[in-house]
Amino acid sequence: MYVDVHAHMYAYKGSTNIRVVSCSVDLDSIKKNVLLRDKYYIGLGIDPHEELGNALDLIREYNPDVIGEIGLDYYYPADRDEQIKKFESQLELAEQLGVPVSVHSRRAEKDVMDVLSSYNLIVNIHCFTGKLKIAKIGFDRGYFFSVPPSVVRSSHFKSLVKLAPKELILTESDAPYLGKPDDVKTSVNVIASEWGLSSSEAEEIIFNNSKRYLGKAFNRL
Ligand SMILES: [Zn+2]
Repeated sequence: MYVDVHAHMYAYKGSTNIRVVSCSVDLDSIKKNVLLRDKYYIGLGIDPHEELGNALDLIREYNPDVIGEIGLDYYYPADRDEQIKKFESQLELAEQLGVPVSVHSRRAEKDVMDVLSSYNLIVNIHCFTGKLKIAKIGFDRGYFFSVPPSVVRSSHFKSLVKLAPKELILTESDAPYLGKPDDVKTSVNVIASEWGLSSSEAEEIIFNNSKRYLGKAFNRL
């Protein structure tokens, strides 16, 4: 069994039979995602570049499986203090609701780790492109890391998969942006060969990791 822990199914034209967490980025995608809750796990959150507006109230009302995607992104010029405040308010909400978080981090890995250190949460860092030295901080705290389809050719993600404790690796597509949900099957094969295991052994480990990540939400679908 395969799980795609980070995709945007409201923006994806195809379909899939695997389990998917459909993450939001703004108020509009939060509303679209809620309509998909019978098919997918729903991640509700406001990404670093979008307005928070009344999102906290909406998210609480809609009872999400995951809060996400949320995080920090310093790739484009941005008001860092404002991003941090937005990130913190959603982490607090996740703590109150007792749900995991799907975290986006770009050119902001150190700040992401600093902010997260104040919270007691189940964390997945999606598509982590920062330094492996910083990823290690996450491993020590038991954070999950979801690997995108580019693991097939990316030496960065291959190294991440090798360095991480096996029980912290998850798979994602970030569909429709980085691939499609079914691509996680290929990712599992690549991860298996990095680990020196059979595909079915890696599949089982990653499936069990996904269950632990989703916690009480897992059995909802
Ligand atoms: Zn995403």
